[in-house]
Amino acid sequence: MGMRAIVIGGGAWGLPAALRLQDLGWSVTLLERFAPGGPFASSGGTSRLWRLADTQLWRARAMLGTLAAMERLSDRLGAPVFRRTGLLWRDDLSLPAVAEALAAIDQPVERVAADRVGEVFAGLRPDGRDALFVQQGGVVLADRLLRSALAAFVAAGGDYRPDTRVVGITPGDVSVRIATADGETFEADQALVAAGPGTRELLSGLDLSLPLTPYIEQVVHLGDPHCSPPAPDLPGLVDCPSDDEPGVYAMPDGAAGYKVGLDEPLRRLAAGTLGDDLDRAEQPERTERIRARVARDLTAIVPRVLATQVCTWTDSGDGDFIIGRTHPSVVLACGDSGEGFKYAAFMGEYLAELVAGGTGDPQFQEHWDPRRFGDMAPRERFDAIGRH
Ligand SMILES: Cc1cc2nc3c(=O)[nH]c(=O)nc-3n(C[C@H](O)[C@H](O)[C@H](O)COP(=O)(O)OP(=O)(O)OC[C@H]3O[C@@H](n4cnc5c(N)ncnc54)[C@H](O)[C@@H]3O)c2cc1C
Repeated sequence: MGMRAIVIGGGAWGLPAALRLQDLGWSVTLLERFAPGGPFASSGGTSRLWRLADTQLWRARAMLGTLAAMERLSDRLGAPVFRRTGLLWRDDLSLPAVAEALAAIDQPVERVAADRVGEVFAGLRPDGRDALFVQQGGVVLADRLLRSALAAFVAAGGDYRPDTRVVGITPGDVSVRIATADGETFEADQALVAAGPGTRELLSGLDLSLPLTPYIEQVVHLGDPHCSPPAPDLPGLVDCPSDDEPGVYAMPDGAAGYKVGLDEPLRRLAAGTLGDDLDRAEQPERTERIRARVARDLTAIVPRVLATQVCTWTDSGDGDFIIGRTHPSVVLACGDSGEGFKYAAFMGEYLAELVAGGTGDPQFQEHWDPRRFGDMAPRERFDAIGRH
């Protein structure tokens, strides 16, 4: 009999990994509490920013790996899962480190003087800070990626179980047992736990304590509803925080307008896990704050709200992902730290390789090892966007 895997969680990480394992000849069961990209997960919505820009060379290398992986996944799914639009990164503190990391991975980058930012990003209000324009940046087509990957997984014979909440994991030396809230039990050679904000409630079975903190955050889509598309095709934007204002991340989102988020969560999830904390109501005050910021700073976009979206991300405790084998029969992938979607295609390959017995890339595992925290408690504050 062939090898069997159970993947817990059908988000941006678990779903591509389930597909990849299926393609590698494993029999895969995907257990998902709701449905991929649903309102209580981290992976919902139409788009996510992708970039190669980062302050640290090892992370820039990992992001370079995401680009090739997105091309391979696009080929596998028969449709592109990302779009190149370029990306403007504006900051004072992080600019030299980002430029250095990009040079080290041979990526072309243009330095943009503070008073010229509007030539590269139409309508961007100068604020005295220089920027970098990076061609290799843009948007992951989030909902398309999840929809196509799920269809491909099922078409390849994958066993997809939506509305199935895992409540217990019992890892053994040669197999693992999974219990669901409905009283069902599943057994497999390997389990991949990729439950996003629901991870903490599954850790007791793994005898592991992690400093995870899930947050709820809101984004706003803006533009002119009478135009198609509602907003000009601008590049992506990372506008790092200044002394008195939080950072902004923003991206072109086709028919959904221009999508903008403020690097400031609405709140933490109660009890540090998804549990039954399912209130995802929009915060009108946050919507207005983002709209006003767009009206002031992104003047090529009509500051009219088209839609809002509330979703979750999980601080890992040090801002780096938590990825690796925890038991002979279990691999864990969590702590997305608010920047995990750009890794979706990469994680599909990387996590499948770990499940199949690989050890991962030592330059990444040094930072991602689940055992690196000891008794560390969840931290009170996380790193601002672009500054870790
Ligand atoms: C507002 C916002 C903006 C973001 N912007 C970006 C960006 O621009 N670029 C970027 O790269 N990333 C961004 N991110 C982060 C990115 O979306 C996440 O890193 C990514 O979606 C994480 O995917 P995941 O598979 O780890 O988690 P999830 O998508 O949460 O998937 C986990 C799945 O597990 C399921 N689950 C949970 N508990 C259980 C259980 N007990 N049993 C069974 N299933 C369970 C959940 O229902 C869920 O579907 C953003 C996140 C937010 C919230």
